[in-house]
Amino acid sequence: MIFKGFAVGSYYSNCYIIGSEISRETAIIDPGADFNKIESLIEELKLIPKMIILTHFHGDHIGAVLDIVEKYGAKVYIHKDDAEYLKDSNINFSKQIVGKNISIKPDVLLNDGDVLELGELKFEIIHTPGHTKGGVCIKVGNIMMTGDTLFNKSIGRTDLPGGSYEELIKSVTEKIFKYDEDITIYPGHNSPSTIKSEKLGNPFFN
Ligand SMILES: [Zn+2]
Ligand SMILES: [Zn+2]
Repeated sequence: MIFKGFAVGSYYSNCYIIGSEISRETAIIDPGADFNKIESLIEELKLIPKMIILTHFHGDHIGAVLDIVEKYGAKVYIHKDDAEYLKDSNINFSKQIVGKNISIKPDVLLNDGDVLELGELKFEIIHTPGHTKGGVCIKVGNIMMTGDTLFNKSIGRTDLPGGSYEELIKSVTEKIFKYDEDITIYPGHNSPSTIKSEKLGNPFFN
């Protein structure tokens, strides 16, 4: 598996690139900004972007989506409960965050438990509402992208449209903490952690 993670844009949102070493087919998770940076990595690693999977609809995670679609024809995936917000630039904060109104019509609507396959890679979709209604975490083997649901020793905001503190706490305890403690989590902002380390040291769960 090819795996790269790096921060993009003024909100330092993490973009993750996950590709097959065999076919070079690739999923890009949360291309929040900095298309040029993403593009040069794709070219350098000779990757073929097929899927753009969004953990949620917020402007700091979607800024480079349309550029990637235009250049590579990748399909856009988002949970069904976030799809309408992704289209609505008044709600997705794109104007405030990346300086332009972004309206994206997704190609594929995700449901809890979906498994997306890309060559030998399997992307498991875990619906974790709380930061947004349609927020998801994405598990690939022993890593999990947690978007703005779960951060290293913190959690995402719950005061934005569709957010709910109770739901977020429930999502993490019931749907993320049940996985193997050795899984590394790669959040939407800041540095990675593990499920074990969050169970033991995240102040919101202790
Ligand atoms: Zn967010
Ligand atoms: Zn964010």
